[in-house]
Amino acid sequence: MNTLNSPLTILPGVGPAMARNFGRLQINTVRGLLWHLPLRYLDFRNTSPVGKIKPGQSVTVRGTIKTISASYAFRGRLARAEAVLSDETGSIKIIWFNQPYIAKNLSSGDEIAVAGTAVYYKNVLQLQNPIYEKMSQENIHTGRLVPVYSGSGVVSNRAIRNSVTAALPAVEYEDDILPSALRKEHNLPTVAEALSTLHFPKSEKELDQARNRIAFEELLIHQLAARFQEASQAKIPAPAIPLQTEYIANALKTLPFELTANQKRSLWETMQDMARGEPMVRLLQGDVGSGKTLVAALSALEVAVSGWQTAFIAPTEILASQHFKYLQKCLPDCNIGLLSRNFAEISSGEKLTKKQLLEKVASGEVQILIGTHAVLQKEVSFSKLGLAIIDEQHRFGVAQRSFMLKQEQFADLTPHLLSMSATPIPRTLALTFYGNLKISSLTTIPTGVKQIATTVASEDQRDQIYKKLKSALDTGAQAFIVTPRVEENELSSLKSVKEEFARLQADIFPNTPMGLLYGSMKGADKELAMSEFNQGKTKILVATSVIEIGIDVPAANFMVIEGAERFGLAQLHQLRGRIGRAGQKSYCVLFTASEDPKTLGRLKFFASCNDGFLLAEKDLQQRGFGNLFGTEQSGFSFQFSRFFTVEVLKAAQAAALSLIKKSPNLSAFPKLRAKITPLLQEMHRE
Ligand code: ADP
Ligand code: MG
Repeated sequence: MNTLNSPLTILPGVGPAMARNFGRLQINTVRGLLWHLPLRYLDFRNTSPVGKIKPGQSVTVRGTIKTISASYAFRGRLARAEAVLSDETGSIKIIWFNQPYIAKNLSSGDEIAVAGTAVYYKNVLQLQNPIYEKMSQENIHTGRLVPVYSGSGVVSNRAIRNSVTAALPAVEYEDDILPSALRKEHNLPTVAEALSTLHFPKSEKELDQARNRIAFEELLIHQLAARFQEASQAKIPAPAIPLQTEYIANALKTLPFELTANQKRSLWETMQDMARGEPMVRLLQGDVGSGKTLVAALSALEVAVSGWQTAFIAPTEILASQHFKYLQKCLPDCNIGLLSRNFAEISSGEKLTKKQLLEKVASGEVQILIGTHAVLQKEVSFSKLGLAIIDEQHRFGVAQRSFMLKQEQFADLTPHLLSMSATPIPRTLALTFYGNLKISSLTTIPTGVKQIATTVASEDQRDQIYKKLKSALDTGAQAFIVTPRVEENELSSLKSVKEEFARLQADIFPNTPMGLLYGSMKGADKELAMSEFNQGKTKILVATSVIEIGIDVPAANFMVIEGAERFGLAQLHQLRGRIGRAGQKSYCVLFTASEDPKTLGRLKFFASCNDGFLLAEKDLQQRGFGNLFGTEQSGFSFQFSRFFTVEVLKAAQAAALSLIKKSPNLSAFPKLRAKITPLLQEMHRE
């Protein structure tokens, strides 16, 4: 019976209380549960006789319970269940902390399997908190790749695994929307096979294929929708903005500095694009301070000179008013308006209401209108909108997409679009997501050329590095020491940053004032740590990768990154960007204990490369999407981006094109078509 849409209570073992808990995880039906895919797997395929267990090894052990008992918390001792497990080769003690009830579920004589990692406690090997299951059932929790799910704080992993097992027979009713020929061509399992594999994989190879399958489907649908989107846009022409080379050249002479070569090239690319009668879709990317705003301002100037208007959209009101001030300064001859939620301003200085400003926009008197997304709202009507500039910082694509979808409101001509972003988006990704996107990159910082010498160091160079840091401190340096990212959990990361702080302060830099900074610190403590470092009261700041975002301490010129191999290259680049901000000579040292040639190669490449774009591209090729950035930045909300790889993306892109070629309106593929129609409608409704 097809129970995919049934409530979870139809599953054996799921009562109303558990169903309610699943509801808190937004899982309400059998299908919902089947699509709640594991985050990762514990590898307990390795089985061992009791007498052969080695410490530190993840292992499954099968045996008979000899004794089992519970004891409850007293005098600081945790409640626990304790058991002795034996087979013909020996016995081992098992302790389950905080789970005394396990002693009720199991009794002596039970044959069970336990999976965990053995540790020495007072010289005796024991298993702490292993997963267990009785041997009568088919193994779910032990002896295999064991799935680990999100939401285990609400419903235990054990209960999720049991419920999924009960739900799994329904998976065969999950409809496959991929045409079987396409599936064969790309060597992909059916959706039912993929889902069962993802919950209970038999091998890594099978697991990879299942992940590819899920990723392929999601990317294919996105690619198809994107291609339809582009096709519908391509029909609307854009104003051809004549090249105002001479005017712009004169305007440049009034600036207090020369444009960088990158800025000149980007401006020229933009001007040439806008001179064509087709809508420009251009991404202007560059680190903060690379001079994007100026390029955008000069583009707006050209548009204004030609008699067209520009809408300039900033992510926040604060940034909108900063842009307003900045543009007023560098474009003194333009009539610029600022539209805010509560008030309106105009560069002439005239006091006016929002309504009056909007009238001036509608009449064409305001040449450049700056504001947040409010600028895109219905009541704002331009007389001749030629260019939209979107400064979206980290939210690449979001505003862009909603803007493109609004184009209908501009009737006969589509404005050109220039989107600014400070997050390096790898070319491969940008080009695949937006087929018609063009990119200009600002790879240099005009004020204060950064000189950061980056080196990769091994453990035996540690003393030498500390010596170097000490002498730098003596001459007024300030340093960040970044502790490694510990993937398992917040707690281990916290432990590592605190331990490193204590160790450095006690053993290495006893006379240096040091600060400590990590993500879960209270806001006020964080600010104190930052301001003390900022004012030079502390000379070393030991921190987790929280410093990636936003800390601006111009004097900092030394950075040590521990466990560098655990970071993505783009992230290392962001970290490194925190030093040398005043343009002074700076040092970045990457410690790694890794001896893997590939890892070392990756880090050495990083040391030699200061181009954020190239680094992001390398990251994408080598480590996939997960490490790069949140997919919300693409402007689409993906469910399974953690399974995406460049290969699958390329395959999905090619498949989308070939399907459209075979059947331009997809009528030959009704199931795919049905998936895309609501997506396109949703896009148009926004
Ligand atoms: P972004 O928008 O990329 O963060 P901005 O355009 O705000 O960068 O530029 C940062 C600062 O550098 C601004 O004060 C700007 O006036 C200045 N600037 C821009 N271009 C140049 C240049 N070619 N030479 C010197 N300073 C520049
Ligand atoms: Mg800026």
